[in-house]
Amino acid sequence: MRPGLFPESPAVDESMVPAAPTATDAAESAPALFRARALSKVYGDGPTAVRALSDVDLDIARGEFLVMLGASGSGKSTLLNLLGGLDVPSAGELWFESLCLSRADEATLTRYRREHIGFVFQFYNLIPSLTVAENVALVTDIATAPMPVDEALDRVGLLPRRDHFPAQLSGGEQQRVAIARAIAKQPAVLLCDEPTGALDYATGKRVLEVIAQVSTDLGTTVVVITHNAAMAGMADRVIRLADGRIAETRHNARRISPSELSW
Ligand code: ADP
Ligand code: MG
Repeated sequence: MRPGLFPESPAVDESMVPAAPTATDAAESAPALFRARALSKVYGDGPTAVRALSDVDLDIARGEFLVMLGASGSGKSTLLNLLGGLDVPSAGELWFESLCLSRADEATLTRYRREHIGFVFQFYNLIPSLTVAENVALVTDIATAPMPVDEALDRVGLLPRRDHFPAQLSGGEQQRVAIARAIAKQPAVLLCDEPTGALDYATGKRVLEVIAQVSTDLGTTVVVITHNAAMAGMADRVIRLADGRIAETRHNARRISPSELSW
């Protein structure tokens, strides 16, 4: 199930989302923002079933910048979609703070996505008939505590293009609009699935710089999927998936700016 970029429905039961942990709780146990335990995902059933994720244990700290590497088909998008509440696991547990995503119903997941998650995909999913500013406003109109549209555009360096249409922008600029749209609602988490997959080298770097800057300035927890191992240096931690499992984990002592990375 992948309900598009704006799957939000207004019919949400407020009582279904537990209160956030208090500051005292956080100080006592320093809980991870995400906790995955034995997380598994199987698509389909019978002889055509595909095991996309197998028994993944993963904690992600608030404010962490996590890069996910791995060959095509290794389960990266599956894991990202579970984190983002776009899909539910077949087995195992997944928690976002005190909210159990693995047992949440569709309305709760919708509300969770709307309040906490910004998505950036390989193809920018901008609405062609709306201007840059209008594309971002689609999100800020329904968000609880959005930043002003022009501030979001300024953060990605595109304020001067606010009244242009997507077709008048380069691929990298369109992706930066998609990032502005994703961050404008001030989500706790920014999930990026191959955000530079359709971009050339220099443009891709510029897009990564914007993502890294957002993470630093706003404290947003960021998970970026990529094929490109050279991107690993920009992360606090790099995990490599293989056959639906975490095959390797690496911690970086410091984040390297994308402008210092070469590939
Ligand atoms: P990655 O993002 O690392 O390329 P995915 O998470 O997209 O990998 O896919 C992992 C495996 O699950 C692949 O074998 C893929 O074909 C399969 N898969 C992904 N989505 C679906 C789906 N909706 N239905 C059936 N199989 C799927
Ligand atoms: Mg993928």
